[in-house]
Amino acid sequence: MAIVTADDYRERLYRMRKNIYMGGELIGRDDPRLKPGVDLIADSFERVKDPNLKDTITAKSHLTGEEVHRLNHIHQSSEDLLKKQECTRLLCQQAGGCIQRCMGIDALNALSVVTKDCDDNFGTEYYPRFVEFMKYFQKNDLVGNCAQTDIKGDRSKRPFEQSDPDLYLRVIEKKKDGIVVRGCKAHNSNAPFSDEIVVVPTRLMTDEEADWSVAFSIPADTPGIKQVVRITTPRPRKHIHTKHFYGVADSTTIFDDVFVPWERVFLCGETYFASILAMLFATYHRHSYTGCKPAITDLIMGASALVADYNGVAEASHVKDKLSELIATAELVYAAGIAASVKSTEAASGTHIPNIIYTNVGRYHAGVSLYHEYETLADLAGGLPATLPMEDDFFSPETQPLLEKYMKRKDGISAENQHRLFRYLSDMLCSAHAGVAQVGGLHGGGSPVMEKIAIRNQYDIDSRKRLIKMHSGIKD
Ligand SMILES: Cc1cc2nc3c(=O)[nH]c(=O)nc-3n(C[C@H](O)[C@H](O)[C@H](O)COP(=O)(O)OP(=O)(O)OC[C@H]3O[C@@H](n4cnc5c(N)ncnc54)[C@H](O)[C@@H]3O)c2cc1C
Repeated sequence: MAIVTADDYRERLYRMRKNIYMGGELIGRDDPRLKPGVDLIADSFERVKDPNLKDTITAKSHLTGEEVHRLNHIHQSSEDLLKKQECTRLLCQQAGGCIQRCMGIDALNALSVVTKDCDDNFGTEYYPRFVEFMKYFQKNDLVGNCAQTDIKGDRSKRPFEQSDPDLYLRVIEKKKDGIVVRGCKAHNSNAPFSDEIVVVPTRLMTDEEADWSVAFSIPADTPGIKQVVRITTPRPRKHIHTKHFYGVADSTTIFDDVFVPWERVFLCGETYFASILAMLFATYHRHSYTGCKPAITDLIMGASALVADYNGVAEASHVKDKLSELIATAELVYAAGIAASVKSTEAASGTHIPNIIYTNVGRYHAGVSLYHEYETLADLAGGLPATLPMEDDFFSPETQPLLEKYMKRKDGISAENQHRLFRYLSDMLCSAHAGVAQVGGLHGGGSPVMEKIAIRNQYDIDSRKRLIKMHSGIKD
């Protein structure tokens, strides 16, 4: 079985070269500030032991024949895609938010398609390299970050038009044994907790953009890589403890003339396939969103229902109406992912690609509904998440009995539970961590307009026009 323990994962992470910069310091991955994020990823290793999750969280590798983590699998069927979606939803529910382990494997699935197609069309030798790398990745149960989003400079200009060509990551030198790359990738979730950084292009590339059409994977501590990192966690607690391991970090990942050996290069100069790769990673990643985003709605829904209950208004018609809306959002997004899985297509490599329209429809609805979902929770929770007294005041002799008396709402709900729920709601709605989760839920996998473009480009609008011509009796 190619699945390691959470301790093995931590150990190898802590052995990595220091290349993380945080708050003006160069730190190791064992820095306590990174612990909540390390714990979050470590939890994805631990969950394999859960007998109720086993069938969903593991898969049989078609490359090694061994059992691997589902989030390290190359999808071989619609069933695999369905299980990935289910696994993502379950793990996010249990973690209490984004599990940060999808983007690496989403990029690797996209590469498994594109490297084979490129070889078949151009006689290149990327696919065998990719397969060897993938076996190594699965055997060691690695964690990958996908670094797709370039810094991008002036958004109205293409990569080759920027006044500084490094604003999109590019190849600056080709050598006998590899390439040297320079650039910077933005917003890289989980990069400080990853073994590998999988780099793919950000956008469609034109003929002038061969130098920017590059894909590769390298260890996250490779010389020349500098990760400038910030972490967000729910607010620290002193008294009201929960499992509370949750934390996410993002890295601004600088590639300061980084050498990548050829065996780790999966595209180099093929502009057409770089474009396909950019689109395919987005497709796999947005499909992952059809699993994680319903889990976020599940949390918002649970919090909304519970607070309405504690407030004594669970039976009010507007509360029931709001819960129905949340259910509709969660399940519509999930259903779009199911449709995308069922309607997947098989690439030449055997990898299954989720249906692009259903994937993007699901991700689009998830993104644009998100702020409304938080609005629903904020509405039902009232103002207290914003003005909840500080934790210490609930435990100081003078204010404790008074706060407990005045926190009480419905009979049968203890002051402590009332306090616990509102402390959680305050984190969920009013903390810096909540703000990051909201922006991530909107932009992660691409800003909403990107999904609209993907939907429109793939959709047969002409056939709909023909329908109207038929019904109107127009003949041309
Ligand atoms: C929490 C979080 C985690 C993330 N994790 C990852 C990750 O792990 N890996 C990764 O690669 N990326 C990651 N992303 C990046 C995410 O995919 C991008 O934020 C998203 O693609 C938008 O890019 P941007 O942030 O550069 O915004 P911008 O591109 O600056 O977009 C801002 C606005 O400008 C519009 N716009 C941009 N360009 C144009 C144009 N040419 N013409 C017209 N309008 C335009 C956009 O539609 C949008 O409305 C993450 C983002 C967040 C917030």
